Amino acid sequence: MSDLRTLPKANLHLHLTGAMRPGTLAELADRYGLTVPSPIPPGARAWEEFQTRYDAAREAIRTTEDLRRVVTEAIEDNVADGCAWLEIQLDPTSYAPLLGGFEPVVEAALDGMRAAPCGLIIASSWARSGEHASQLALLANNYADVVGFGLSNDERRGKVDDFVDAARIAADKLRVPHGGFYEGPWHVRECVEKLGANRIGHGITAMRDKETVAFLADRGVALEVCPTSYPPLGVLDFHELPLRELLDAGVPVTLGSDDPLLFGAGVTDQYVIARDAIGLDDTELAAIARHSIEASAAPADLQARTITAISAWITARGTAADRSR
Ligand SMILES: [Zn+2]
Repeated sequence: MSDLRTLPKANLHLHLTGAMRPGTLAELADRYGLTVPSPIPPGARAWEEFQTRYDAAREAIRTTEDLRRVVTEAIEDNVADGCAWLEIQLDPTSYAPLLGGFEPVVEAALDGMRAAPCGLIIASSWARSGEHASQLALLANNYADVVGFGLSNDERRGKVDDFVDAARIAADKLRVPHGGFYEGPWHVRECVEKLGANRIGHGITAMRDKETVAFLADRGVALEVCPTSYPPLGVLDFHELPLRELLDAGVPVTLGSDDPLLFGAGVTDQYVIARDAIGLDDTELAAIARHSIEASAAPADLQARTITAISAWITARGTAADRSR
């Protein structure tokens, strides 16, 4: 059995609050007199069960120092999980009032990433206005180290057309909206056609539609699939994720951890599920790892080094398998 922690990879779907260590949340909550949110109840099957806990956890980040700490610990945890590259998604809106505005929030996150193999994605929310998203896209453009622009939250709360201006403003960044989580394949296509999405956060409903799968493959749009996020929200079970079919169709599938704080699983755990619950072999898992690097904003030399390391991982696996025969 291969140790998937040693497979070099990128985690492209990770929210800042959701990346917080449970111990750090407990410590900060204690410091500020807050209650640690309870785990998502089994079979909750509702977005609100998730969102209220996420919001409660975010309340524990009350200073730029807290925010920087969450970032540095997330980088440590992901590097320990075999990540050669990491992208952290941050919506500065809710932190801004306590931390002194959008800029201090973004700059604390960037400060925590300095010299680390990590990029920052500024995300607005499907639940806020297009104007707000445009404001955050302009903010993203002020920082060369911000690598992407995202749209998070429940996509049923916004209309794609309302975010076209924001996406246009962020045209020089990777555009990585969440899409096709609840809405059908049409939503994924609109995110690509109207927002110029380079990657889709989740995009799991696209998998049900052959034409949309072919569309994603043709355009090389990657999916950031986060298996442990789906069963608690009642959207699907692991065995319903057609990862092999997507890979075979040429879709650049990647695996991300989304919110380890709430779903209890890091990025290697997603690869373990892809192997043990979905049945992918080492070659397919290595293909996913390669897609994750290629779809990232990592510098070209880091990408090249990591792809070489992924090939070496597969070669070593083959050698180990030969020896055990
Ligand atoms: Zn997400």
